[in-house]
Amino acid sequence: MNDHAAMNRNNSQAPHVVNHALGQSAASLHFHEKVTADNSKFRGVHPMVALDSHQINLGRLVQKALQNLPGSDNHGNEFADPQKSISIYDQSKESHVQKQKPDFITVTRGPGMRSSLSTGLDTAQGLAIAWQIPLVGVNHMQAHALTSRLVSALENPETSIEPAFPFLSLLVSGGHTMLVHSASLTSHHILATTADIAIGDCLDKCGRHILPSHLLASSKDTMYGRLLEAFAFPSDAPYEYTPPPRRAEELARKPTKWGWAFGVPLAETRCGSKSKSMQFSFTGTGSTVQRTIENRAQQGGMGEAERQALAREAMRVVFEHLASRVVMALQILQNNSEQALSTLVVSGGVACNGFLRHILRAFLDVRGFSHIKLAFPPLALCTDNAAMIAWTGMEMFEAGWESELGVQAVRKWSVDPDAEDGGILGLDGWRRRGS
Ligand code: AMP
Ligand code: ZN
Repeated sequence: MNDHAAMNRNNSQAPHVVNHALGQSAASLHFHEKVTADNSKFRGVHPMVALDSHQINLGRLVQKALQNLPGSDNHGNEFADPQKSISIYDQSKESHVQKQKPDFITVTRGPGMRSSLSTGLDTAQGLAIAWQIPLVGVNHMQAHALTSRLVSALENPETSIEPAFPFLSLLVSGGHTMLVHSASLTSHHILATTADIAIGDCLDKCGRHILPSHLLASSKDTMYGRLLEAFAFPSDAPYEYTPPPRRAEELARKPTKWGWAFGVPLAETRCGSKSKSMQFSFTGTGSTVQRTIENRAQQGGMGEAERQALAREAMRVVFEHLASRVVMALQILQNNSEQALSTLVVSGGVACNGFLRHILRAFLDVRGFSHIKLAFPPLALCTDNAAMIAWTGMEMFEAGWESELGVQAVRKWSVDPDAEDGGILGLDGWRRRGS
């Protein structure tokens, strides 16, 4: 993925500190475009393909982004002061125009493939030096956690940024399944991650087995999880779903009229006791789907109604698994936390799923957490994107942080201050603004 965004406070002429102290904000997204490398020939992201894509596209994207910088301030005055403006060649006018000079430049520093990240870091550092402005190298996972706050700043400029800390985030995508407790801007405790594959990966695998071949063939991409939802719920009819009122009902095996049934992921430890481990696991559900389809194939194949039932059950099982860990986390936090939590942010491609949204709401309600608000950022902002990086830089910059020139890309970088590397601020290269 290779992207770039240009973003400013709407009122960037006003001192940032004042807005921050009031807890009020307004943000504008001036340009947002995404280029995704074609890795379809490989079963994942190929480092060389990703690097080529970054090198080929990043300069062009920056060039395009600069055209979209504001040409005048909030009062319509052009930026005449050379310290506050930069000269950009406008191709449509065939002449140079003055644009607002950014206050600072933000780039992703990690975690991820160092080769691709370095392309961005080198470009950002060059711009920071040329424009004589600070550089802010941020954490990609921190940016995911802050996305809902970006949405709030973009959509509700008149109100305080929401959610306020602390809040919970559930990141459910093709590459991640993570439950995070965000205590403050730089403190994000990872409460649960997957022990095996990501939930999106699991649903894609389920889709590959369950979807009838004509549907698989018609798909333009490998996001079979999305297709699986459309196949399982072809109409807008209300979901037939009763949330388990207690953990005992949640763990009970639920036989179907077709003769197969799913086990609950991580229901038991290796020694047989009931497990309450704060972890996710999805391979078991995928294997049950595969086995069930293969068994039927030996008996002459599976009809459409049964496939639909299998799709619904597989989704119910993995979504209830997510919900169960959310409830466990809320129960723990309820007893230990000084500040009450009021929001769960759900992001990533799988968060589009209507059945997941329904299950989470029903599950939280029946377990005594109806006061917890569910927030679903729009898809373009909750899958990988540059606007969330720009926003994270903005929050870090306003909190007084910038990066030293020469900071390097990092493959691993935790967001959790209790991790071995010390989390976001544990990495070298941070300095206080103006120091
Ligand atoms: P991301 O990694 O955030 O880009 O999300 C991509 C993943 O989300 C893929 O595994 C998709 O199959 C999955 N996905 C997208 N839409 C849906 C949906 N409506 N239901 C289930 N999974 C989905
Ligand atoms: Zn990501």
